[in-house]
Amino acid sequence: MYRSAIYDEPLLNELLGSTKEKIKPLDLLPRSLQRKEIIDIPNLDETQLVRHFHRLSQMNYGIDSGIYPLGSCTMKYNPKICEHIAGWDSFTGIHPYQDISTTQGNLEIMFELERLLCEITGMDYYSLQPAAGAQGEFLGMLLSRAYHEFNNDSERNEVILPDTAHGTNPASATMAGYKLIELPSTKNGTVDLDMLEKTLSDKTACFMLTNPNTLGIFESEIIEISKMVHKAGALLYYDGANINAIMGKTRPGDMGFDIVHLNLHKTFATPHGGGGPGSGPIGVKIKLEKFLPIPRIARKDGKYLFDYDVLQSIGKIKGFYGNFSVLLKAYIYILLMGRDGLKEASEIAVLNSNYMKKKILKSGKYEMPCKELRKHEFVLSCEKLRQEKEIRAMDIAKRLLDHGLHPPTIYFPLIVKEALMIEPTETESKEDLDKYINALIKIADEDPGIVKNAPSNTPVKRVDEVGATKNPILTWKMI
Ligand SMILES: *Cc1c(COP(=O)(O)O)cnc(C)c1O
Repeated sequence: MYRSAIYDEPLLNELLGSTKEKIKPLDLLPRSLQRKEIIDIPNLDETQLVRHFHRLSQMNYGIDSGIYPLGSCTMKYNPKICEHIAGWDSFTGIHPYQDISTTQGNLEIMFELERLLCEITGMDYYSLQPAAGAQGEFLGMLLSRAYHEFNNDSERNEVILPDTAHGTNPASATMAGYKLIELPSTKNGTVDLDMLEKTLSDKTACFMLTNPNTLGIFESEIIEISKMVHKAGALLYYDGANINAIMGKTRPGDMGFDIVHLNLHKTFATPHGGGGPGSGPIGVKIKLEKFLPIPRIARKDGKYLFDYDVLQSIGKIKGFYGNFSVLLKAYIYILLMGRDGLKEASEIAVLNSNYMKKKILKSGKYEMPCKELRKHEFVLSCEKLRQEKEIRAMDIAKRLLDHGLHPPTIYFPLIVKEALMIEPTETESKEDLDKYINALIKIADEDPGIVKNAPSNTPVKRVDEVGATKNPILTWKMI
């Protein structure tokens, strides 16, 4: 381990020859089993290897490195205590096929988590199975289909979505076999009630919405919207990826939503991005309970069990019972925060977002369509910079990297030209928010040539993003 591998045996013998000691390879294996030929793999010692991977890890950027205000994604700091507990042997050593008499504690955690999520969102029942927000949406759409079929109403084959919807919403509805109807927003960026009235029909299965919406604006007419949707015989679906804005303040269930998905890996203490394990539980009102996936987690005579006896269930949506470690971290996080803590988190998330919005707009460098108050996120437009200096949202995102900052979401939602979508979250300090604000203002004044050629001080410069999507290289072969 300590003998540097770059010296081969003859050279070592030559260098150390005066000691008259011959260095022999370590005979850990019998000679007969040792390789004769040299194998073609990188030949590194421990120091080199550690430094290589350490250097690579330092090129990475995560929420533990700094602010990560990726709008719609709620990239907030996740308390390490949740990760620590989820790593205990008593949790990681459990096998899903183990007899449930030996896993009562795990079942209790899932059972209790369902109750807590019901309380936070105002729903009646939960399924913890879906492994991502998008899979939750897909399950929601299957529940909508099962519900209408059960009510002999299977002619309903349309799902209405606002033009600000997250890309997964139309994808999930399409995968479930629905036809999409896009609803244009008002110039204030909210649901157009007149248009909705005209669009709803006896073909509408469901209206998918998020509140606050993707522009960060609270749909204050949500009760009216809910009444209209239900009068038309349709269901109201809540994309709960934005729950970080309203926890403890209001609940989708109280707004009239029938189906809700949450992103535990955004709001409830699991680091995300890069496709790690996620969790997108689905909450429903009582009228949809009988369609939920099996098994349900139940309690009978003081014991927890898996209930497969759900007659109208749509079946299974994922192997076993969901991503348990993500569920566990959410459970710990909710207990740690408590009712007041969750409420405070939302309040600070909204405060931070409005602080940034106000200071950036005051600089006059960026514009913001729709003057409504924002919740946890806001969407700026750099259209003025594009017209005046040909600087685009992509250039600003790349230049932020040179300032050591992670860019916001860009070009989403599609209704805002040259969009920068910023969600600071509650876990950033005022100093970090100010640093970000100042960087954005400074970039707007920088030499356009520098901004358009950014990044200049990162290990990788501008990458061919379209090429990477169209011709992905998914394996790397060692030669
Ligand atoms: C992230 C997100 C989703 C999808 O969640 P995944 O876990 O990435 O599948 C859906 N809607 C909104 C608004 C989101 O931000």
